[in-house]
Amino acid sequence: MERISVTELDEWQKCPHSFYLKRQGWRKRAAPPPDPLAVGSMVGLAVEARLTLGKQHVAQALRTYQEKYDLVDRSDLHEQVMTCLDVMPEWVWEIQGAVTEDHIEHRYATHWTGDFPHIVEVVGRPDIWYVDEWGIHIVELKTCNVAYSGTARKLNDYAKYGAQPSRYAVLIRDAYPELDQLAIDRRHVVVSRKGFAAASLPFELSDRAVDNARSDMLELARQAVTSAPVHSFGPLCGWCEFSPVCEGYVNGQDTVGILKEHFEQRKRRA
Ligand code: SF4
Repeated sequence: MERISVTELDEWQKCPHSFYLKRQGWRKRAAPPPDPLAVGSMVGLAVEARLTLGKQHVAQALRTYQEKYDLVDRSDLHEQVMTCLDVMPEWVWEIQGAVTEDHIEHRYATHWTGDFPHIVEVVGRPDIWYVDEWGIHIVELKTCNVAYSGTARKLNDYAKYGAQPSRYAVLIRDAYPELDQLAIDRRHVVVSRKGFAAASLPFELSDRAVDNARSDMLELARQAVTSAPVHSFGPLCGWCEFSPVCEGYVNGQDTVGILKEHFEQRKRRA
């Protein structure tokens, strides 16, 4: 049985080759996460700590992350996180009963191998989700580093086409049959390290929208676990951690050598 996360499905859509290398466990050697990723992760951890444990646990959650990645001296990162938390819409802090579980998982038969169904377990974890008298709410948090107009533009893109919350909706529906009859909505919050925030209104997901997301998700999962990795060169390649490997590929260099020199292969989390 293969196991694939909602985040990996996103990575597969962006570039199958990057997906493949990450799935093989390749990571940049001894490098802390890039600043935007670190800030985004710390904001997510701080929000989770405050909603599930209480405001007094935020500092420890941030410190644990900074210690883990040797970022304790990066007060600039800490300040950026605080800026993002300061502009977070007030309604986020008023959420009651945010679900704290590690992740949601569900097994699907995506295709047949001979006489046997090929089972793929899809896992995922919304940034925030909770249930109230209206139904199920999924909230996705994004961080960026642009001025207000850029923040609003990013929100617009996420709110219209962001697929991840719909995939989480599928997982919640399928993994919790007891919640099957409840309405479900999604919304996005984008906070900028420059001190701006924009949030979408709740968007109710119809049964058809969830079914559409499910059928796309399963087809993507099928492709991801059965297809050969292929490069997806584009303008964003320069931002990808594997760009030295791919540049070497284009230029006919020893890509295995480049990979081994700059990256290390870690065991994937089960
Ligand atoms: S550099 Fe481009 S082609 Fe290579 S893995 Fe990254 S996104 Fe894919």
